[in-house]
Amino acid sequence: MSEKLVIKNIGLMLSGKIEQPIYDADTIIAVDGKITDWGREKNLDCDSATTTVDAKGITLAPGLIDSHVHPVVGDYTPRQQQLHWIDSTLHGGVTTMISAGEVHMPGRPNDPIGTVAMAIAAQRWYDNFRPSGVKVHAGAPLLQTGLEEHHFKQMAEGGVRLIGEVGLGTVKDGKTAHEMVGWARKYGMQSTIHTGGPSIPGSGLIDADMVLETGTDVVGHINGGHSALPDDQIICLCENCKAALEIVHNGNERAALLTLNTARELDKLDQVILGTDGPAGSGVQPLGILRMIAMLSSLGNVPAEIAFCMGNGNTSRQRKLDTGLIETGMCADFVLMDQAQHAPGKSILESVQLGNLPGIGMTVIDGRITSQRSRNTPPATRLPEIV
Ligand SMILES: [Zn+2]
Repeated sequence: MSEKLVIKNIGLMLSGKIEQPIYDADTIIAVDGKITDWGREKNLDCDSATTTVDAKGITLAPGLIDSHVHPVVGDYTPRQQQLHWIDSTLHGGVTTMISAGEVHMPGRPNDPIGTVAMAIAAQRWYDNFRPSGVKVHAGAPLLQTGLEEHHFKQMAEGGVRLIGEVGLGTVKDGKTAHEMVGWARKYGMQSTIHTGGPSIPGSGLIDADMVLETGTDVVGHINGGHSALPDDQIICLCENCKAALEIVHNGNERAALLTLNTARELDKLDQVILGTDGPAGSGVQPLGILRMIAMLSSLGNVPAEIAFCMGNGNTSRQRKLDTGLIETGMCADFVLMDQAQHAPGKSILESVQLGNLPGIGMTVIDGRITSQRSRNTPPATRLPEIV
């Protein structure tokens, strides 16, 4: 029998689409984990649901996507010796994470065959095991000296779809990186690059020239992780890149706002995507994506409904995912949230525009409820109920 999820009494539906961020709808339906319909309840077939949720007038958005994480294995990170950081992040509304490299693996291999083996293994262990239901796209090898085209072919055939941050491996020059990124792209793998100064002892500077020469699909942490490039180089990247412009929580906030303002002037807000860059030296940020949305909306004067798109729909499109947008056939991955108790503002959107986080009441992944009232956000004013 198929599973049918009906969520009704939605007060505000955010679509993830920057060109139309708000839908006129109070109900959404998913069958077997995929979105099939949404609109006004009276016009929809809500019969024979296996799960019905009364949203109690709160907001539904596509689940948030963290475009930049550094997982290692399961729901444990050796970087700050923390357990359950992914479960905590689900309580911050994130339903999908994308690895920028499993860099914190103790004893990580840097030789070609070891790199291939670990990339395939990491892709598998997160494909086979979703911590608390969260989708972790991992297996993101670093570019290492000695990798040849056949290694990329082998990794792609093994299921690897990503390249970790260029510059964190032993390949440090733009020419070699460009060649390897080309092989990766040929076999369907998406690439990102470390932009800015060194993040920790042992990593190095990547300037705008190297980012442009390498030509990755994502300009990873354009606002630095942590140290940002000089302003003129950030502006140059915004002007010249057709790639995704990724802003991270663990970066320079002033550079984040410079990126946002430059992208807006260039009419490139659809290229702006969000990540945390955790776990890292700054720890993990369970609420990192929500904090970025509130920060960019409030200090960058972006309507909250547009800022939310940077945390779901923009990333979905830039990274060609099957989640992050309210669209027929997309995965039914949702976050249900409301204005936080006692947060100023006349609505959830206004309270976010004033720099406040919303309170999360529920998450849904593939049409199944994965968490209820968040233990990490400020408490939501109203909570959805399973009927
Ligand atoms: Zn980095």
